[in-house]
Parts: sequence; C-alpha cells; structure tokens
Amino acid sequence: MGVRDRLKDANRIVVKVGTSTLAYGPGRLNLLRMERLVREIVDLANQGKEVLLVSSGAIAAGLGRIGSREKPASIPQKQAVAAIGQGMLMHVYEKIFSEYGKVTGQVLLTKENAVRYHQYIHSRNALLALLGMGVIPVINENDAVAVDEIRIGDNDSLSAMVATLVDADALILLSDIDGLYTANPQQHADAKIMDEVAEITPDIERIAGGSGSRMGTGGMITKIDAAKVAMSAGVTMVIAQGSQEGILHRILSGDPVGTLFPAKPSHLKLRKSWLAFGKQLDGDILVDEGCVHALKNQGSSILAAGVVDCEGDFAAGNTVRVLGPNKQEIARGIVNYNKVTLKRILGRQTKEFSDLIQGEIHEEVIHRDNMVLMV
Ligand code: GLU
Repeated sequence: MGVRDRLKDANRIVVKVGTSTLAYGPGRLNLLRMERLVREIVDLANQGKEVLLVSSGAIAAGLGRIGSREKPASIPQKQAVAAIGQGMLMHVYEKIFSEYGKVTGQVLLTKENAVRYHQYIHSRNALLALLGMGVIPVINENDAVAVDEIRIGDNDSLSAMVATLVDADALILLSDIDGLYTANPQQHADAKIMDEVAEITPDIERIAGGSGSRMGTGGMITKIDAAKVAMSAGVTMVIAQGSQEGILHRILSGDPVGTLFPAKPSHLKLRKSWLAFGKQLDGDILVDEGCVHALKNQGSSILAAGVVDCEGDFAAGNTVRVLGPNKQEIARGIVNYNKVTLKRILGRQTKEFSDLIQGEIHEEVIHRDNMVLMV
C-alpha cells in the first residue's frame, strides 16, 4: 500500500489554513471559502475522524474591524490588531461550525508550550481532551502576547508543533500554491509540481528558499521546516491548494494532489518528538560521513571519534543539531559534553578521554536514546 493510500486511514488530522486562503486581502475575510472549509472539516468529523484546525487570519480579520487595509507596522500594533481579530475569527468559525452542529474550542499557543516539558504535556492533554469531547480545536499562535523568543512566528511551524503534540496521522497545509515545484513556477514555465518528497535534502531547501515565492506569511521554506518536524515525528504532511473545492477529501482519499511528505517509518515516542521540536537548539555538532552512515543505518550513538567540529555555546544537557559533511541536518539530541570539553575530545577514542579532560566521562557524545534522526 502506497503512502497516498495510507492517508485513507488517517484518523487524527491537523489542517492548517493560511491567511491567503482565508482572506481576499487585509480586512476582507473570504467567507465563502471559510464556509466550505468548515463544511469539509465537519464532514470528516462525521466520518469519525478527529480534526484540529490551525487557522491564521487574526491580523487580517482585525484590520477589517478597525477599518484599515494597511498591515500594522509596529509590534504592539500587530499584537493589538491580532487581539481584535482573533475574537472576530473565532466568532465566524463558531457561527459556521455550529450551523453544522459542531462545537469549537479556541487554543492559543506560543513556543513555550512546546519548549517547556510541563507546558508541553498540559497543551497536549488539553487538545486531547477537546478531541475526546468531539470538539474541533481551532488553534492559532497567541499573537497578542507572543513576541521575541516565545514567538513561533508562522503557522506552518505552529501546525507541525500541534501535529507532533497530538501524535497526528496527517498534517495538511492549505495554501495559495498547489504544492512544491521543481523551480519557481512564476519564473520557470517548465517547473513541475513534485508529487512526493521523501527526504528534505539541501537541494529541496534551496528550491523552497528561492526568491519570488508568492506565498503568504510563512512562504515555502517554513513549510519545508514544518515537513522536517512532521516527518521525523511520524506525521505525513501534504501541501495543497486551499482554494480547491473538496481538497481535504481528495487528499484523504489518496488522490495524487499537492506534494506529499511521507512520515518516517519509526514513529517517535512522545519524549522524542518533544526533543525534536520543542527543545531550544543551542549548537551544532558536525560529524563525518562514517558517523552519518552509522546513525542512519545502525542506529548508533555519536562517539567523539566521528565528531569533526562543533559550533554554538552549548552546555552538557542542552539540545544540539547534528550536521553531516554537507551541513545537512541528520539528527537532534541531548549532548553529554559542553562545547569546550567536546572541542578537546573530538576525533579521539574514548580511552584517551581521561588524559584530555577532567570530570565525568561519557562514552557517547550523544546517546542514541537521547537522539532523534531528522532524515
Ligand atoms: N498568527 C497569524 C495570524 O493569525 C498568522 C501567522 C501565519 O500566517 O503564519 O494572523
């Protein structure tokens, strides 16, 4: 059975809808599209599926309320407009969902909710409780308070965080583009939509980061970042065109629409998915080809012998990225040594450590149990 076919069995689904799909422009909600989206979601719920909606559009709606079409320039103004618009947005959702007999529950999250383990568990429990009550959670970033380091910044990343939080089977990003193209379709007439991207390679990141993308707030690169997180957490992701009628049903019937990012086969355990997404990243550890091979094929731990260099100011116990020779992110994990100590032992065998460093000796730089593969 192909991955597309397996989407037919997806039971817990996160749907993310971007501002460009929900609004004609600042201040003007596309009510017809919102109505269709809600109807489709309720139909899925009626089939017995659990659906969580991550919706942008707070700022767009807020601008409408205060009669402005200009995006707010300052951060406090943006916060204020989001506070106004979030209520409006919920009012519209509440109205349409209830017409189809469904109750909604608003959940506003920040990065903190995933980074701090306790908050992570509480957020997860709240979302699962809502699903248990047959409610459709309508989720957005808490834009009115989330600034600086607690801000996620884009709803693509937020939706991957939510999908990870609730162990979703599928994450569907509805956007104003119908998938990932081989090149920017506006500049290259021969650009083709990719049906499936099984691995986020540096090449894919380059394509996604190409200039001139006409996407909304996040753009394609944030969608690719979301794919990385989702795939390694065992969530299959699809990017598709939000304006297409019946798009969710087509995707969940296994139709070849949009671009599919299949979940990695091993579903991460709860703690590990938190490790991959929620933890703040404090540095990078560069490893050699042999180490990459051992990580990918033998599920090995990282030993100092395979480490080539390290960057960032990390302490023992922090979460770092593990990068291969071409700077591709291979894994994330909790490092047993701080940066200064690791610099002393990199490239060395464990038996040499006692001559090189003082303090506690660990055989592994990162133990396999504290590591999540990202490829
Ligand atoms: N949270 C923002 C809003 O509701 C949108 C962020 C995004 O579009 O990625 O307006």
